[in-house]
Amino acid sequence: MADANAECNIKVLCRFRPLNQSEIIRGDKFIPLFQGEDTVILGGKSYVFDKVFPTNTTQEQVYSACAKQIVRDVLGGYNGTIFAYGQTSSGKTHTMEGNLHDPQAMGIIPRIAEDIFEHIFAMNENLEFHIKVGVYFKSCLSILTKTNLSVHEDKHRVPYVKGCTERFVTSPEEVMDVIDEGKVNRHVAVTNMNEHSSRSHSIFLINIKQENVETEQKLSGKLYLVDLAGSEKVSKTGAEGAVLDEAKNINKSLSALGNVISALAEGTKSHVPYRDSKMTRILQDSLGGNCRTTMFICCSPSSYNDAETKSTLMFGQRAK
Ligand code: ADP
Ligand code: MG
Repeated sequence: MADANAECNIKVLCRFRPLNQSEIIRGDKFIPLFQGEDTVILGGKSYVFDKVFPTNTTQEQVYSACAKQIVRDVLGGYNGTIFAYGQTSSGKTHTMEGNLHDPQAMGIIPRIAEDIFEHIFAMNENLEFHIKVGVYFKSCLSILTKTNLSVHEDKHRVPYVKGCTERFVTSPEEVMDVIDEGKVNRHVAVTNMNEHSSRSHSIFLINIKQENVETEQKLSGKLYLVDLAGSEKVSKTGAEGAVLDEAKNINKSLSALGNVISALAEGTKSHVPYRDSKMTRILQDSLGGNCRTTMFICCSPSSYNDAETKSTLMFGQRAK
């Protein structure tokens, strides 16, 4: 492993999307005020993060400001996790995936995939790489309880999801194929359940193992990329029955995640409540400690979403 540095390894970044067409037509106000590189003011209150990305920030700028270093870390044997948190339509998927097949509109995941392969091709030819990726769309969300996917632990007590396909890949294009396939599978799973909710977490895993064929030295790192389910309050969605249960489950898992992150950020707590949700169990060995954790706090700039945006910003502050 590369040398461990003592700095706090949880970064919280906040990104505001622009007003969309229907918000403009409705006459919504643009409410955030951006100050410097790291502060946003909303309703007279300042929220400070490691960085704040105003609405005109490009995908390229977001990537080079934060995720680029993570590729180097993961190739250096560190584990890491990147989350996107925020209400539905706040820009989570835009940030994590964007348009997978458009070089300008690509989000973090396809850029990471390209960067990893670029680094590998430039590295020592004695190194042999095995890269595995997996999409955990159906896992650790409420759908999990209704299918046969479940969290298990291997002989080293590392949690893994049974029933998820992981695949070896040899190019960025193959990574995109896995993401596209995962989307189809997810769509089928949701349709089969006859539910119209699109709220679910999606977890993408990149697992890199390398071996120096001369010295037989091995190194492995993995990176979880998590597009969290929308964080909006249940009451607002008017959900009932199974959809309401699902919404409650999602809110529970998001607050479990918040508790884990804030325990890690405090750094003094000996007990980090990883076991309180399936998602935090899966992510356990890639959160906190020596791991690189980055949380994107995604926000709408509209006055209409005022309350949700405040609660999203508060969630991000807990990790600071
Ligand atoms: P979420 O995944 O949080 O539900 P999306 O990422 O799907 O939200 O974003 C909702 C819509 O807003 C999409 O049409 C997306 O393209 C657009 N959008 C989100 N963020 C941005 C941004 N920073 N710039 C331009 N459009 C954005
Ligand atoms: Mg989304």
